[in-house]
Amino acid sequence: MVAKVIHGPEVAEQIKEELRVKIAELKGRGVTPGLAVVLVGEDPASQQYVRNKAKSCEELGLYSRTILLPAETSEAKVLEVVDQLNADPAIHGFLVQLPLPKHIDENKVIMRIDPNKDADGFHPINVGRMLIGNPMFLPATPHGIQEMLVRSGNDPEGKHVVIVGRSNIVGKPLAAILMQKRRGANATVTVCHSRTRDLASIVRTGDIVVAAIGSPRFITADMVKPGAVVIDVGTNRVEDPAAKKGYRWVGDVDFDAVAEKASAITPVPGGVGPMTRIMLMKNTVMAACRSAGIEY
Ligand code: NAP
Repeated sequence: MVAKVIHGPEVAEQIKEELRVKIAELKGRGVTPGLAVVLVGEDPASQQYVRNKAKSCEELGLYSRTILLPAETSEAKVLEVVDQLNADPAIHGFLVQLPLPKHIDENKVIMRIDPNKDADGFHPINVGRMLIGNPMFLPATPHGIQEMLVRSGNDPEGKHVVIVGRSNIVGKPLAAILMQKRRGANATVTVCHSRTRDLASIVRTGDIVVAAIGSPRFITADMVKPGAVVIDVGTNRVEDPAAKKGYRWVGDVDFDAVAEKASAITPVPGGVGPMTRIMLMKNTVMAACRSAGIEY
């Protein structure tokens, strides 16, 4: 293998150490940062994400609350829970795990979250602040990708970053973050999607390629220029009779082949996922610092 593997847990550990310092300072002032997660329904993948988030909180000594609601919960009830969390002083940040059951309007729920407690950074006020370069909460996955690039010595400044995927949670916010006129950004960004013509030739122009598609091994070695840095956001469950559980997780990148050509690459699992969790913790600690008047 030619590429250096960028391990998410290693980069996340550096951020954890920085957070521990801030958490100790907050606790010295009698403040324990608190994160709440609301999960509506019994989707196994969402349950796993929520468990992982609670575990990350515990490890760092944050207060964590998980609110589990049955799939048939009414929209009015979910909005009521959001109102309660908005008003709860023990909770500095919270999120409602997406996707929500079909009978609940996700936009309505996001709009109801107090932008000062919007740990996911999905409220339009926070999206707008991100876009104009005055962020309060940045969405965890794209912010984690930026940290991963910078801390692994692959600063995006001046580079051509090709992002495949334009979702509101990964592709679009990542483009907004990396194009900012500031340190750790200043990239030239191209965003591709399912209607992009001649995708492969555009991806081949990327100094940094970010795959956020949701399609196993979609990015193949012929689509990547030699020496590119490849970030794989995809988490796809594929059948594997040889695996203990009968399945395993793979990314959107054909890892083995692309690693022969790239200069650096993230694995799945063990890449972007741990970064997403730690950035959510960071958002919670930053919110607690803001409410306690501590600079962060
Ligand atoms: P999404 O909302 O389904 O968006 C997928 C994007 O990929 C869309 O913009 C879509 O284009 C584009 N796309 C689909 N097929 C394509 C094709 N053949 N050619 C070019 N573009 C194509 O997904 P998402 O929420 O962004 O998530 C993407 C992946 O990342 C998923 O596997 C998800 O599980 C994973 N993920 C991981 C983390 C983490 O922390 N590791 C966090 C979030 C998401 P259109 O817009 O034209 O439909």
